Amino acid sequence: MENIRNIGFIAHIDAGKTTVTERVLFASGTTHKLGGVDEGTTVTDWMDQERERGITIVSAAATTFWNDCQINIIDTPGHVDFTAEVERSLRVLDGGVVVFDAVSGVQPQTETVWRQADRYRVPRLCFVNKMDRMGADFGRTVDMIRSRLKGNPVPIQLPIGTDSSFAGIIDLVEDKALLFSGNGDGKHSVVSIPEEYKEEADSYRDSMVERIAETDDAILEKYLDGETIPVEELRAALRRATVSNKLVPVLCGSALRYWGIHPLIDAVTHYLPSPLDMPAAQGQHPKTNQEEYREATVDEPFAAIAFKVVTDPYTGRLVYFRVYSGKAKGGDSIYNATKGQRERMGRIMRMLADRRTDVEELKVGDIGATVGLKNTFTGDTLCDETHPLLLESINFPEPVISVAVEPKSRADQEKLGDALSKLSEEDPTFVRRFDEETGQTIISGMGELHLEVLVERLRREFGLQANQGKPKVAYRETMTEAVTAEGRHIRQSGGRGQYGHVILKMEPLERGSGFHFENRIVGGTIPKEYISSVEAGVKDALQNGPLGSYPVVDTKVTLVDGSYHDVDSSEMAFRIAGSMGAKDGMRKGHPVLLEPIMEVEVVASAEFLGEILGDLNSRRAQIRNLEAQGDTQVIGVFVPLAEMFGYVTDLRSLTQGRASSSMEFAHYAEVPQQVTQGLLRR
Ligand code: GDP
Repeated sequence: MENIRNIGFIAHIDAGKTTVTERVLFASGTTHKLGGVDEGTTVTDWMDQERERGITIVSAAATTFWNDCQINIIDTPGHVDFTAEVERSLRVLDGGVVVFDAVSGVQPQTETVWRQADRYRVPRLCFVNKMDRMGADFGRTVDMIRSRLKGNPVPIQLPIGTDSSFAGIIDLVEDKALLFSGNGDGKHSVVSIPEEYKEEADSYRDSMVERIAETDDAILEKYLDGETIPVEELRAALRRATVSNKLVPVLCGSALRYWGIHPLIDAVTHYLPSPLDMPAAQGQHPKTNQEEYREATVDEPFAAIAFKVVTDPYTGRLVYFRVYSGKAKGGDSIYNATKGQRERMGRIMRMLADRRTDVEELKVGDIGATVGLKNTFTGDTLCDETHPLLLESINFPEPVISVAVEPKSRADQEKLGDALSKLSEEDPTFVRRFDEETGQTIISGMGELHLEVLVERLRREFGLQANQGKPKVAYRETMTEAVTAEGRHIRQSGGRGQYGHVILKMEPLERGSGFHFENRIVGGTIPKEYISSVEAGVKDALQNGPLGSYPVVDTKVTLVDGSYHDVDSSEMAFRIAGSMGAKDGMRKGHPVLLEPIMEVEVVASAEFLGEILGDLNSRRAQIRNLEAQGDTQVIGVFVPLAEMFGYVTDLRSLTQGRASSSMEFAHYAEVPQQVTQGLLRR
């Protein structure tokens, strides 16, 4: 197992992630033809739309082999509208390769994925791609990794030449130079470091060794004594430092020319962790809530996480999973601890993008897919029924934007429902609901592009033509003051009555905490069997807040008291009482509207700074940072999503097309009073 690497390539869109992935698969012999994103023939960008739009949307897993290593690659999207894809891949991979465009260096989405990778403590390597482009700058990119990403980069390579003169790489670990041939076969000749690069290479090498020594006592001793440190020892120490997130090795190359790919794969095998390097998988017993651990060995009971569900036109429902301990065979009966259900696996397979090979079993450290699981969804834990555990699920943000869709013909209404439910099964950040009031189907997601792509998939994959309304902001409501509330549902005239009575304490929680329910009934003032009905009633009420019927979030509800009746009490009566109580509490607790705030970055020629800022101001923007890079100006702001519809077009006309912008969800914040009034009057 020490020869398995579960890795992902992560990057800002257009940095060259797809090209790098493609070259790696080719170099290791998994594909026999070099694809090119520009011609739309890559293996990992397998959905038609991805090919056309030139972006990677759905992560596909691919397995490949290099020397003695099995490398499982999980492809991740670069566009932040597809956050769910990034989250789920980071949850299951052990190491990441962050791809940079050597001209632009660190870009906003690199920052986002870097932060996500920090959260999951994913060890990484950096690959500074596009060294052949005009304006490429290796040193500046390394500086930006340090200053903007707060990483601890240590170059283990240096480029020989840049842009049109880029010709090779100096390998600082082995103290030699690799010169590429121009014929596109990816091969290189190994030579000693050219005279004119000696001095620079020596100084970089010295600082590399020093940085490694800082993390390792044995190396430090030798370094201080002025001894030469054998390559193997240096490599082993750098591996330990990378795996423990102390250092991030930096490499460079040009994926387009197929230069620097072989050394990159070597570095993946040298420095990124194997499943053995990872701490034991941690979870809880589903019944007793006791902490459970699974060491990464095949002798432990089976435990895996389902990280992706795809509906495939040929095989049906395909569930991707990563095994943390033990093994599973095709046909095995396994236990879905999240759902509390037994399921039977069908065929088991390894994936090469959309092609698959059947295998007999998948074991600890492996990533693969299976058919036959009916009730397993993204984030669910699959395990051995006699040793159940729940692994930590995947963290998904709430959708921030929604749009109404309706089928062009009435007859398609049912088909639309089916199709949407399939799509939302695949993508946890895509939610659909039926609005009783307006009779419309509402779909919500992470951004305009996200929803556009989904509507497009309805057309292509399900043959459904749908009209869509204007995108709307997904507002929320919350309370701002703690209150005590009461719900009484008592009808006792004639026949069997109804009796439910609750007293609730309701209080605001920190942003992003969601909803919490606590039961503090003692001595049976309300019998146990009715407690879950009260909770269900409270949840019903919080679906529609008192201001604009938006869902209520960041609220804690504690059931503190109440009363019951021996004959007249029922689950329904307590559900209604719970709902009435929560409604009462929300009204009293000074409710406010919350809106999604986006983090927006605009990059433009400095001459437009005034116009751009003026326009952003009128959109209620809050400036985060202004940074001049030569003639270009980088403007970072927080802006409410409500003000950002159509921004790309407006920015284009403001700057004659000489600016670019990116936007992603940051957090929810209170809507200012005046704006709220305007909104609610509509
Ligand atoms: P992704 O969005 O990160 O997956 O990036 P792609 O792999 O789709 O690449 C984006 C664009 O950059 C494409 O037009 C590629 O041909 C181009 N590209 C990728 N790698 C290189 C490189 O090393 N040098 C140059 N000059 N262009 C590259």
